[in-house]
Amino acid sequence: MSDSYTRATFDEVMVPNYNPSEILPERGEGSRVWDQNGNEYVDFAGGIAVSILGHNHPGMVKALKDQADKIWHLSNVFTNKPALELADKLTEATFADKVFFANSGGEANEAAFKLARRYAHDNFGPEKSEILSFSKSFHGRTLFTVCVGGQPKYTEGFEPLPGGILHTEYNNIEAFKELISDKTCAVVMEPIQGEGGIIPADPEFVKQVRELCDKHNALLVFDEVQTGFGRTGDLYAYMGMGVTPDILTTAKSMGGGFPIGAMLTTTKIAASLVPGTHGSTYGGNPLGCAVSLAVLDAINTPEMMTAVKEKSAKIQSGLEAIGEKYGVFSGVRGKGMLLGAVLSDEWKGKARKFLEAGWANGVMCLVAGADVVRFAPAATITEADIEEGLARFDKAISELVS
Ligand SMILES: *Cc1c(COP(=O)(O)O)cnc(C)c1O
Repeated sequence: MSDSYTRATFDEVMVPNYNPSEILPERGEGSRVWDQNGNEYVDFAGGIAVSILGHNHPGMVKALKDQADKIWHLSNVFTNKPALELADKLTEATFADKVFFANSGGEANEAAFKLARRYAHDNFGPEKSEILSFSKSFHGRTLFTVCVGGQPKYTEGFEPLPGGILHTEYNNIEAFKELISDKTCAVVMEPIQGEGGIIPADPEFVKQVRELCDKHNALLVFDEVQTGFGRTGDLYAYMGMGVTPDILTTAKSMGGGFPIGAMLTTTKIAASLVPGTHGSTYGGNPLGCAVSLAVLDAINTPEMMTAVKEKSAKIQSGLEAIGEKYGVFSGVRGKGMLLGAVLSDEWKGKARKFLEAGWANGVMCLVAGADVVRFAPAATITEADIEEGLARFDKAISELVS
């Protein structure tokens, strides 16, 4: 019965907003995945930078099963122990004092942007409402979050759009100075632009943005949906940058594959979300929080963060070697388990071809735009899987260029 479902079924019964592969992954173990035909892949994708502990991680599976036997759902009329413990540990581990739980990155950002508006309204008046963001940024797919995102193709045709959102060039402090003012309520940035092409923020730029935010009483919001939860070799990327945000959003790796997101902030700022101002039916549900606790316990150790940095260096040098051998990359950038191989001029616009060549050779990677091949393996990936994945990717590229 299940064999009668194939990629073709997708076109019959699904809204055509995605164009998925013919491959139907059915099972995963660590950094290996098996499809409907028994083909096996090394997973350098981790969903889209989600599966930070790989597939079928024993700690996560146990946490989910244990909680499944206790209670699944309560609503926000009640709080629950996994949510309280997770919020306690997150505030212990970060700059934040308070946590709001959501189910995804987009929802965490929606909460962050609403809070920034509300906080400015409460403390400075309705004139202070502008949100400053950066071109090429990505913050989610709700109408508010696509508008804060800096990719016009995602808002086209969805007008009328929410207003009061301005964009400027990432890593360009002069352009930023022109735009920020006392009307700015928040500046939103990814420490490394993920969907935009794995573009790291220049540390000096971030430092100056922080100073200008302070000068204009604007909140600095870090969207760490993709960079957070150990992905870059720190629990959050801000920790490796010497700059602290006022609001931070986190999702993707946070649940290791179970949908959960969160917004973290300080007591002073959180005070603007009084009862009734915002909410979510499933946000902070015990299943998601129990799984995320297992992820946090496994990820947030010095040994794991050191391992991420070491494995990252290995993958980066492997990719650089492949790039030189075949002349396909102009460089490899990013941090930790979030790397982008930038296509050389000759291959620009063809990132999807690299993905497909990888699939045909048993390795899964991602694109970040049309000019960058993205790698987001698990922090738990073994040395053997790194070597095997790189060897398969090498073979894929040799076929692609021949
Ligand atoms: C993926 C992503 C989002 C959106 O997260 P969803 O869980 O898909 O809503 C937001 N911001 C960044 C930086 C992301 O990478």
